[in-house]
Amino acid sequence: MSILVLKFGGTSVGSVDLIKSAAQIIKKEYEAGHNVAVVVSAMSGTTNKLIENINLISSQLKNSQDDAEYDAIVASGEQVTSGLMALALKEINIPARSWLGWQLPIFTSGNHRHASIFKIENEKIIEGFSNRQVAVVAGFQGVGLDGRITTIGRGGSDNTAVFLASALNAERCDIYTDVDGVYTTDPRMADNVKRLDKVSYEEMIEMASQGAKVLQTSSVESAINHNVKIQVRSTFHPDSMGTLISEDVLNNENQAVTGVAYSKDEAKVTIIGLTDQPGIAATIFNSLSAKSINVDMIVQNNFIEREETNLTFTVPVSDLKRSLGVLDELKGQIAFEKVISEDNLSKVSIIGAGMRNQPGIAAKMFDCLSKNNINIEVISTSEIKISVLIDMAKTEAAVKSLHQIFELDKL
Ligand code: ADP
Ligand code: ASP
Ligand code: MG
Repeated sequence: MSILVLKFGGTSVGSVDLIKSAAQIIKKEYEAGHNVAVVVSAMSGTTNKLIENINLISSQLKNSQDDAEYDAIVASGEQVTSGLMALALKEINIPARSWLGWQLPIFTSGNHRHASIFKIENEKIIEGFSNRQVAVVAGFQGVGLDGRITTIGRGGSDNTAVFLASALNAERCDIYTDVDGVYTTDPRMADNVKRLDKVSYEEMIEMASQGAKVLQTSSVESAINHNVKIQVRSTFHPDSMGTLISEDVLNNENQAVTGVAYSKDEAKVTIIGLTDQPGIAATIFNSLSAKSINVDMIVQNNFIEREETNLTFTVPVSDLKRSLGVLDELKGQIAFEKVISEDNLSKVSIIGAGMRNQPGIAAKMFDCLSKNNINIEVISTSEIKISVLIDMAKTEAAVKSLHQIFELDKL
């Protein structure tokens, strides 16, 4: 009997009525003869509310023990929905039970708030399948090496689902959300967006990591590592198969760009007048990484005649304060004139595997932005992606104009 994993995101389980509707989707797959494991997120808004409460008590978590309490608190959202979903299924005569991360267990690394799953034990779920029982697994959470509850980063239930699909050797992992697939850009940003029937792993990982939050980046990494086929589908239009994300997607060679993504979570730090000598950059970035600060774009301008350099890098806004703290601590170790920072920035990216074969894509992007009077602060590229850092107020204008110039509305 084939196994399916179905994941329902926050808006899909945002009320008791929505949980009951999602249960009907599960029932349909179950009655079609599949063994089903379900992964649920917290009800929409719940995780944010829990984090707000944490901030009201402790504005700055000081150590890993505080982070462990954060995890104990935020993991509760998924505990509630897993129980509610199991009850909703039983109400419609589908045998079901809820599973928390520690009960299966879902083993993760011990770094609280950003733990990584490394193993999901499948025995208890498989045993349930032998009695045709649906497993409802709380997403986002696991158990760490210290035996305490961990969470795996915002949006992490996507990764719970993909990892579980691999652990169960499932035929497919269906991610049910509030849009019926992956679009050429966020449907909230432009009117003439097009749904993509298929997206390759490599394009999806770039889209996710550049801000398309329809799938969390680590879930796409897990899908690549374990070769899991993901189908992004709508809870509100379950008859559509949505978008397939898999390896064997034939890219349209003529189409250089297939998506535009953006992230408003960008802060920029510039160190002015840094001594230009070997080892300085390593010291700075090692110190940032020791504090688990994720640096994204990096640019360095050398003034050869002065043996000085200006170093610019970007971090998530939530890490800006800590990054400035790290640089402050380094003052005795490395010489620089001053540090300036900005946090009202966005990163806008164009993505497409076809970019490899077509010259002039960067020029076309920069030309389009300049015609729209949008200044570029930092640029970074990969083989299939070009990203620019811009004023946050111009995000929508940039996304819309790039979507149009690369004719994504005609896909
Ligand atoms: P869930 O709560 O189900 O996990 P998310 O809010 O995390 O849902 O992700 C779905 C949202 O992702 C959509 O509502 C949409 O606004 C956003 N999104 C961003 N980029 C894209 C894209 N390229 N295609 C589809 N949705 C996108
Ligand atoms: N509830 C968590 C969050 O809001 C995890 C998830 O929804 O995937 O980030
Ligand atoms: Mg999500």
